[in-house]
Amino acid sequence: MAEVETLATGVLAGERRALSRAITLIESARPEHRERARALLDQLAGAERSALRIGISGAPGVGKSTFLEAFGLARVAEGQRLAVLAVDPSSPVSGGSILGDKTRMPGLGRSEAAFIRPSPSSATLGGVARRTREAIAVCEAAGFDLVMVETVGVGQSEIMVADMTDIFVVLLSPGGGDELQGVKRGIMEMADLLLINKADGALAEIAERTRAEYAGALHLFRRRAGDPEGYPMARTVSAQTGAGLGEAWEAIRALDAARRESGARAARRRAQSLAWFDAEADGAMIARLKAAPGLEAAWRDIRTAVAAGEMTAGAGVDALLASAAQHFGRKPPDAP
Ligand code: GDP
Repeated sequence: MAEVETLATGVLAGERRALSRAITLIESARPEHRERARALLDQLAGAERSALRIGISGAPGVGKSTFLEAFGLARVAEGQRLAVLAVDPSSPVSGGSILGDKTRMPGLGRSEAAFIRPSPSSATLGGVARRTREAIAVCEAAGFDLVMVETVGVGQSEIMVADMTDIFVVLLSPGGGDELQGVKRGIMEMADLLLINKADGALAEIAERTRAEYAGALHLFRRRAGDPEGYPMARTVSAQTGAGLGEAWEAIRALDAARRESGARAARRRAQSLAWFDAEADGAMIARLKAAPGLEAAWRDIRTAVAAGEMTAGAGVDALLASAAQHFGRKPPDAP
């Protein structure tokens, strides 16, 4: 594990190569790599560094890369260091956009103060979630001020990203009256800031109208306990001209400051840590049960019986628990 220690030292010193290698390690599914990744994360946790974590979601083409580039370079110009992590569970399947690609954010890609990491090509959303959480932890330990987690506005990925960030921003395109229908209610409920992008040129007026519609819709949602007046908020921006980007950053900063002050940010992080633990614990327990020698065969037989209609699902679960209990030399636990 000397290797892990060297890696940890490099990450803590903010060395980019160590950071890249650390993230590659946590992205690996190989058991010996997992073990090392865990040891690394344990070491890094000791640093107790913390970044502002911002989730950015939006449909392909809405302007996420353009926004991240302009927004990120403005933070860099202020002397901040930022990491951009991309989450795109759809990419391995669809072969679609590879988020985080340096060519999408050329200025940030060249900046010493920025670190961009594309989405891992992982199959499952659960796998992507774990890796992203761990990558956030590594970036925080490396001393970044800001960690931006980018996701495409499809499927479950934004719920996941909202669950691992402090502030959740949704980017939208200027649209007609039916625009509201395109955004799932769940995403609206999670958003702290809705940014109507492309508010420039001929689109400026439409963007403002769209903003007003969303602002109206946001009134239907209850303000989160402790959040200042006016949040969640809808604003217009132009990632291309830079209009409104400063105000958007101010809105993010003000919300974060209020949440730190009230303890809401710490509470949110505690809840997220617990959710992370619960998810990992559930996954690990099930994986180990399934892999237990002897149990694996029983599991398979029971599934076959259930599929054939020879056993009900409930009876199958009882049978499974009974064989697990037998395997571990115990009485099966009572149902909750
Ligand atoms: P992503 O798929 O969400 O990452 O979107 P991109 O950043 O790649 O942008 C998609 C397209 O929208 C590109 O052609 C951009 O030039 C354009 N675009 C992005 N931001 C703006 C903006 O603020 N105004 C205008 N007019 N076009 C924009």
